[in-house]
Amino acid sequence: MEMWEWDSIYHKSYEDIRSSIEDVRGIFVAYNSNIDAIKHIGVVDIEHLLMNVELKDVQEKVFEYPRQIESPSDLVARLIIAMRDGKAAEVPTNTTAIHDWLTDHLVFDSARMGGQAGIISNLLASMGIGKVITYVPWLSEEQAEYFVDSENLLFPVVEGGELVLKHPKQAFDPDNIPKINWILEFSKGMEVKFAEEHFVIPRDNRLIISSRPKWIRIEMSPELYERIPQLQADIDGAILAGYQMIKEEYEDGSTYMDYVEKAVNVIEKLKEGNPDIRIHVEFTSIQNKVIRKAILKQIVRQHVHSLGLDTVEVANALNVLGYEELAYSVINKGENAIVSLYEGAVKLLKELELERVHIHSLGFYICLVSKDCPVSTEDHLKALLFGSTVAAAQASHGEILSMEGTESGLDVPISVEGHNELEKLEKHLVRSGICCTEDFENGCISTPLYDALVIPTKVVSEPVATVGIGDAISATSFVGFLSKIK
Ligand code: ADP
Repeated sequence: MEMWEWDSIYHKSYEDIRSSIEDVRGIFVAYNSNIDAIKHIGVVDIEHLLMNVELKDVQEKVFEYPRQIESPSDLVARLIIAMRDGKAAEVPTNTTAIHDWLTDHLVFDSARMGGQAGIISNLLASMGIGKVITYVPWLSEEQAEYFVDSENLLFPVVEGGELVLKHPKQAFDPDNIPKINWILEFSKGMEVKFAEEHFVIPRDNRLIISSRPKWIRIEMSPELYERIPQLQADIDGAILAGYQMIKEEYEDGSTYMDYVEKAVNVIEKLKEGNPDIRIHVEFTSIQNKVIRKAILKQIVRQHVHSLGLDTVEVANALNVLGYEELAYSVINKGENAIVSLYEGAVKLLKELELERVHIHSLGFYICLVSKDCPVSTEDHLKALLFGSTVAAAQASHGEILSMEGTESGLDVPISVEGHNELEKLEKHLVRSGICCTEDFENGCISTPLYDALVIPTKVVSEPVATVGIGDAISATSFVGFLSKIK
C-alpha cells in the first residue's frame, strides 16, 4: 500500500478506536511505579564526581565493568563507560547509600513519574479511559504526588474490611519510602578527562541507576489479594509489568519461586472475578536469565493473553526459550533481521500460548494473534494504528495530557525506513507462500495457524522525549484491542 493510503487508514482507525475506547470500563495496572530523578551531566559535574572517588578504584572498575552498583566508584566507572561508548545502560543498585551519595554530590534537574506501570497509569488516566486502577506495592506519599490528578485514576485499599478505590494521593501508606531511580543524561561532543584517558562523548545517551532496595517486593497484601475479584465490575483488562524486580533469593530465605507463584495467583484472582478479562504483560530487558525464563515460562505461559515487547526483548526472550540462533539473527542487524523477528514472533505466540504478541520497533510493528482470538484482524489493525498515533503524539510533545492531545500524532509522517524494512519481510513471506502481496500490503495476513498484522508506523524525527514510548505503544494498542472485544 502507498504511504498516502496508509495515512487515510490511520485517520479512520484513530477515529474508530477513539470512539470505541469509551466502552472500556476500566483497566488494572500494576506493579512498578517509581520516581525518576533526572540530571544532565555537564563537565563540572563529572569533574566533581571524579574528585569524590578514588581514581585508581574507578580505573580498575572501568576494566571490571560492574554489573551492579555497590559503591560510588562502581557508579562513576559505569558512567565513564556509558559516556565513552555513548551507549544507554541501566544498572541496578541494592543500596540506598548510592542515592544518598548522588543527592550529596549532584542536584537533579527534574523529577517525573517512572516505571512502566506508573507511566502507563498516568497516560491512560489522562486519556480518559473509564477507570484506571493502579497498584504499586510501595505507594509512599512522595510517589503518590507523581500520579496525575484525574478522577478516573484510583488505587485499591482495604478499609474496615471493605475494598475502597481512592486517588493514590489519598491512599498512600505513610510508612513507605519512595523508590528513586537516577537518570544521568549526557550529550554528544562533551570532552571527558579521566586519569590518562581523554575522550569525546560520541552520542547523546543516558545511564539509569535503578534502585532495588531490599524492601521491594512484587506482591500484594493478603487482604487486598482476597478482594481482587470484586474489581470485576470496574475492569475489562489488566496491564502487568515490573516482574523484572523479582530476585532469585531473598534474605528471609524466600526465592523467586515464591514471587512467581504470588504473581500467578493475582492473575488467577483477576480472572476469578471476570473470566473474559484480558491480561497483558509488558516485557522489558532482564539481565538475569533465571528470572527472565521464569517470567516467560511460569507467569506468561498459560496465564497471560497478550505480551508487548521491543526487538531486543524478543531476542532475549527467544534466547531463554531455547532459540539462540534465531535470537542472534534478530539482533545482528543483518539483511534478514526482520524475517527472523517475524519468525521469533511466531515462536513466542506458540510457545507462550498467547492470544496476542505485539512487537514494536522504530518504524514498524508486528502483531501476531491466535486464530481463536475474538477480535477481527481489521480491528486488531485499527488498534495498532491508534497506538502508533498516540506514541507519535507522545514523542512530539513529551507527554499526553488528554485524549485531544493524541490527535497531533496524525500529523506525524509514517516512517519511510520502516516501510522499506517491511518490504524485505513482504518478499520473504510472499516467496515462501505464507501470504500474497495484496494481504501483506493491507497489513493483515491470515495463515492456518495464526493471523498477523504488520504496519508501518509514525516516527517523530526530533522527539522531545523517548522515555516510555514503548509503554505507550503497547498500552494504548492493548486498550484499543479491549475496546473491540464483543
Ligand atoms: P521504552 O522502554 O523507553 O518505552 P522501548 O524500547 O520499549 O523503550 O520502546 C521504544 C519504542 O518507541 C520503539 O520501539 C519505537 O517503536 C518507539 N519510538 C522510539 N522513538 C520514536 C520516535 N522518535 N517516534 C515515534 N516512535 C518512537
